[in-house]
Amino acid sequence: MTLIQSFGAAETVTGSCHFLQLKQGPQILVDCGMFQGKAEKHAYEGFGFDPKKVDILLITHAHLDHVGRIPKLLIDGFDGRIIALRPTMELAEVVLLDSAKIAEQDYATALKKARRRGDEGEVKEPLYTNEDVRAVFDSNIQYAEYDKPIALAPDVQVTFRNAGHILGSATLQIDFKEEGQAKTVVFSGDLGNRNDMVMPSPTLVKQADALYIESTYGDRNHRSLEASIEEFREVVISTLNNQGNIIIPSFAIERTQELLVLIKQMYYDKVLPTCKVFVDSPMAIKATKIYDRYHKNLNQAAQELFDKDGSVFDFSYLEYSVTGSDSMAINEEESGCIIIAGSGMCNGGRILHHFKHRLWNERNRVLFVGFQAEGTLGRLLVEGAEEIRIYGEKIKVRAQICTINGFSAHADQTEMLHWMSKFEKLDKVFLIHGEPDKQVIFKQAIEDKLQKTVHIVKYAEEVWI
Ligand SMILES: [Zn+2]
Ligand SMILES: [Zn+2]
Repeated sequence: MTLIQSFGAAETVTGSCHFLQLKQGPQILVDCGMFQGKAEKHAYEGFGFDPKKVDILLITHAHLDHVGRIPKLLIDGFDGRIIALRPTMELAEVVLLDSAKIAEQDYATALKKARRRGDEGEVKEPLYTNEDVRAVFDSNIQYAEYDKPIALAPDVQVTFRNAGHILGSATLQIDFKEEGQAKTVVFSGDLGNRNDMVMPSPTLVKQADALYIESTYGDRNHRSLEASIEEFREVVISTLNNQGNIIIPSFAIERTQELLVLIKQMYYDKVLPTCKVFVDSPMAIKATKIYDRYHKNLNQAAQELFDKDGSVFDFSYLEYSVTGSDSMAINEEESGCIIIAGSGMCNGGRILHHFKHRLWNERNRVLFVGFQAEGTLGRLLVEGAEEIRIYGEKIKVRAQICTINGFSAHADQTEMLHWMSKFEKLDKVFLIHGEPDKQVIFKQAIEDKLQKTVHIVKYAEEVWI
């Protein structure tokens, strides 16, 4: 029997970290993500296992909840091999450097406040610094390619399959032999949708003795993408025709690139009024360049855009606002702008400056295209706040606030059931990366529709397969 333990993304969506402990052969860690939101406190509690014992770290994709604690893993003694797709490592570098920077800034602010209170002993230092992030990319990295098995030891191999979630995202199929018997464990990673705007459909996997599948939206189905695209187009066209500006808070990876493809397609369909499209986020700009460089990993539609003019995203209306002064120059534009800026939930970043300059004007529109967590400024606006405070200044909300819900990089219940139904052999299903109430609904759906045995994995629980 082989032991698998989950030290993150167990009855929660963040902190992905699963430890496959083969009896003979390498000790394999799948992802090493950051705990976020309510689970953030766990980030300081240690890993729950000895990082020195890990031989190989496999990375499913570059989102912070899957890579965020890798620098800490190295600090705590991991010196094995890291295996991931090339674009995943490039995106991960952008993500981790940003995370280290934010942590250092937060630490400095918290320390200042604590000093004034006289209890600086309470402020926790960041988990890692910029240099610790650099050390990850100077370590022993091996690049995977989709569908090409990599031998980890005699009788142990891993195959990365496209998960269709974000650029470089993978489902991992790990095949090994134990006492002469062949076994397969599959980690879905975060799964995408079949009709994603930039990613190809997730690759179907044939067999698994144990499938560890994400369950973020296991309880529901998304609104149709077509209807959401239609709504997006309508909002953009009417706002621009009414001499207004559109401000879109957006996550740097995947959502920004989807929006750019949507807007560029409007341009080619000749329905986009003359305007200026600004990507005002250094992180989003870096991610967009990486997406462009790896356009061969994107879907057919994205590749066709690339073939047309040498870039999936660039076109004559698009401007990248790299520096702070580029960003400030946008304020001079009276109308006719689409401004895409971070952070996605408006709890920091350049979006705040655009709110300050544009929210008071009823001709403008703020367009939310992603989830807004409780306690964020984004959530306040979605819930209809009439005025907000930005850097201590009171700002009247006269701009129209719109929310479009159908964009998601995650498969919904129907999509995940479809993906699972294509396995020729599937023995046991284990649910990870989801909230408990949603997992219970998803478990029931899998049992009813696919007649499989399903287990909801608990933190550090010993699962023997
Ligand atoms: Zn993800
Ligand atoms: Zn995730």
